[in-house]
Amino acid sequence: MRTDTPQTVRLEEYRPSDFLIPRIALDIVLAPRETRVRATLSLEPNPAGRAGVPLVLDGDELALVSIALDGAPLPESAYEAGPDRLILREPPARPFTLAIETQVDPTGNTKLMGLYRSQGVYCTQCEAEGFRRITYFLDRPDVLSVYETRIEAARADAPVLLGNGNLVETGELAGGERHYVVWHDPHPKPSYLFALVGGALARIGSTFTTASGRAVALGVYVEPGKEERATYALDALERSMRWDERVFGREYDLDVFNIVAVSDFNMGAMENKGLNIFNDKYVLASPETATDADYGHIEAIIAHEYFHNWTGNRITCRDWFQLCLKEGLTVFRDQEFSSDERSRPVQRIGQVRALRARQFTEDAGPLAHPVRPSAYREINNFYTATVYEKGAEVIRMLKTLIGPDAFARGMDLFFERCDNTAATVEDFLACFAEASGRDLSAFALWYSQAGTPRLAVTGLYDSQAQTYRLDFAQSTPATPGQPTKAPVVVPIRLGLVDADGAPVAARCERLDAHGVFVLAEASDSLVFENVPAPPVPSVLRGFSAPVRLSLDLSDSDLLVLLRHDEDPFNRWQAGQTIATRLLVRASVSGTFCEEAAEALAGALDAFLAAEGEADPAFAAQVLAVPGETEIAQEIGENVDPDVIHRVRDRLRARIGARLAPRLAALREALETPGPYSPDARSAGRRALRNAALDYLAVADPEAARPLVVAQYEAADNMTDRFAALSVAALVTGGDERERLLASFRQRYAGEPLVLDKWFALQASIPEDGTLARIEALRGDEAFSMANPNRVRSLIGTFALANPTRFHAADGAGYRFVADAVTTLDRTNPQVAARLLTAFNTWRSMEPGRRNAAREALVGIAERPSLSPDVGDIVGRTLE
Ligand SMILES: [Zn+2]
Repeated sequence: MRTDTPQTVRLEEYRPSDFLIPRIALDIVLAPRETRVRATLSLEPNPAGRAGVPLVLDGDELALVSIALDGAPLPESAYEAGPDRLILREPPARPFTLAIETQVDPTGNTKLMGLYRSQGVYCTQCEAEGFRRITYFLDRPDVLSVYETRIEAARADAPVLLGNGNLVETGELAGGERHYVVWHDPHPKPSYLFALVGGALARIGSTFTTASGRAVALGVYVEPGKEERATYALDALERSMRWDERVFGREYDLDVFNIVAVSDFNMGAMENKGLNIFNDKYVLASPETATDADYGHIEAIIAHEYFHNWTGNRITCRDWFQLCLKEGLTVFRDQEFSSDERSRPVQRIGQVRALRARQFTEDAGPLAHPVRPSAYREINNFYTATVYEKGAEVIRMLKTLIGPDAFARGMDLFFERCDNTAATVEDFLACFAEASGRDLSAFALWYSQAGTPRLAVTGLYDSQAQTYRLDFAQSTPATPGQPTKAPVVVPIRLGLVDADGAPVAARCERLDAHGVFVLAEASDSLVFENVPAPPVPSVLRGFSAPVRLSLDLSDSDLLVLLRHDEDPFNRWQAGQTIATRLLVRASVSGTFCEEAAEALAGALDAFLAAEGEADPAFAAQVLAVPGETEIAQEIGENVDPDVIHRVRDRLRARIGARLAPRLAALREALETPGPYSPDARSAGRRALRNAALDYLAVADPEAARPLVVAQYEAADNMTDRFAALSVAALVTGGDERERLLASFRQRYAGEPLVLDKWFALQASIPEDGTLARIEALRGDEAFSMANPNRVRSLIGTFALANPTRFHAADGAGYRFVADAVTTLDRTNPQVAARLLTAFNTWRSMEPGRRNAAREALVGIAERPSLSPDVGDIVGRTLE
């Protein structure tokens, strides 16, 4: 066990490795309890490192079996071997080989890091520091090696054996009872990209011909019997490969590309070279078991992991501080892919919703950190919304700032210059500075300064001079360890519209050809000339920067934007802003403004009448009221989640009542005959129909009940069936709810991924009895604390998506989650730490809840032998 207090690692203390390992040969004999690993490392002193120092290899819970240098066994005096390191006291000052034998227990590995077994399948997860749980190594991303991996197993235990790279040899042993394979990966890679898989798996596959005419064998491996459910993932992979060739000029570089779905997985998926390993949730889909949202996630994550082949694998990170270099960039790439494959405005709205819910919340709490952190105690805790989602926004801003052509040249230069290296954010930015001829040093602050900037904009019209002035002011609130902040470079896409919503062709020298103004100072102003009448400004179009905008527009100005703005994002935003204002005011002052609610409902009704049928996916987004987390964030202090929940329901009921006739008509008009198809257009129709069902139920639960039951029973796909069940569970309630929940449980008894939805839905019911319900569900035979998907569904949903019950005034929700975290910490610290981040908002609660949360957190902190993962999060949360 790593029981010692973890050291803080600092970016400024980076040193190149003293040794390099250009080649490694692995010989792994799989067995459930006693897997033998023989590693032969070709080592050499690194000219960039220090000479004459001991060689220190990383380990984690390892036991050394044997060690030999250049073929000769080493005397015990020459080395020191412990569970977490192997030290060679006087390594040769010339190239040498070190043969190390270790033995590991895949079945007993509940942390799901390193080599473990999931439902009888051997698999690995090595990012960030899992390879050191397999063998002693320089387990750091800047040590790149060519891997040759021999894997041997009993054929009955593991008929399929997969590794990184290309398959170069297969053979039989013991009369066919055992077999082995040899995989060779010619591309030098860091150890976190190592992978192997062994098990009884079924394959579907196809051949992909690259732009230059090379054939690549694609395979998706799943539990036998589930092949049909992998076809969408395979299709998404082919589309991703084609897209990366077309848009980024990137071709795949091996003869084989395999994806394997496993049931027990800490993360979403992992981009191991040529052998991506996925949480099965992001591979398996059929109309009967997956929702439209699931199909969308599968497409995005398949693309994301594939795109890592260039941004992450060919060009990797020098150290873990540079994590955003691969993650932020690759999220940006997968978002662009999904936007090209689906509706760009609807995708953008979804991205911003997620960013505000997760990343803005992170920025506002004790765990706030820069896109590139400068220190960490446990790197596993930095796979965050800030590194991923805000990291992607920074790339998007870079593109907006220098324009699409310079951005494309910069990417080409990056691929050319940094190929086969472990790079830094500075290396990356240098390519764009060179390609655009721009100084990006001020822009780079986005990587090192934490917190969400606030952007205040006011407009002033001068009728005499026929000018319109916009004043901008930015500030960033203090975050842990960063009390003072400097202004950042904010690209603001904007335009003016007149009272009828038509674009105003006013002159403004400081806008670029794409309508972008760059705010680089704490404050600045823009003046438009030749403005014949007071305009309405449309600011931060497309959400061109990840900031919190306050704009002094009246509700009637916002209604003009909602109705007419040429920027679809700002149309959506205008409706959201009206609703947010109303809900914040009602939560804080207790006065619910009926007139404002009525005006918004009327505008939504007019919008639906004009455009609901034409673009249902967009309409579903416009109809959605901002979430409770978002309202809480706007309020910022002394938050009472019960009040927010009540006023939000009241607004929803008001909108539902006003829109009911139109929603009922739309439900009929949008009915899609024929078999289910997951395409974006059909999904959009279902999204609006189901949003309509929800509103009808909120407005009149009694009247909606038969509709809900009818849709549940008649649905031929999971999207519609689950939408009906959700309305029954969250809105209409009563005996019907229990009947439908029981029916669903029975219908999908053998479908763990579907039962995850059932667990999650019940965990999100905003009622007193939910905690008791969850306690009972923990005893369901389909539930297991050993499976991360189950834990996230039942306990994670409660902690992260049921604000009224998690933040229950009596502290019961806090105590429940704290108990779950300490229990889980003993077996899977990584998932436990993630669960604990739900406490991130505790300081913004009203005093009673704040005290209850502190008590629960102190209770965790005081427990003996916490994992570094949980110890780090609880420490920072309480700081
Ligand atoms: Zn990634």
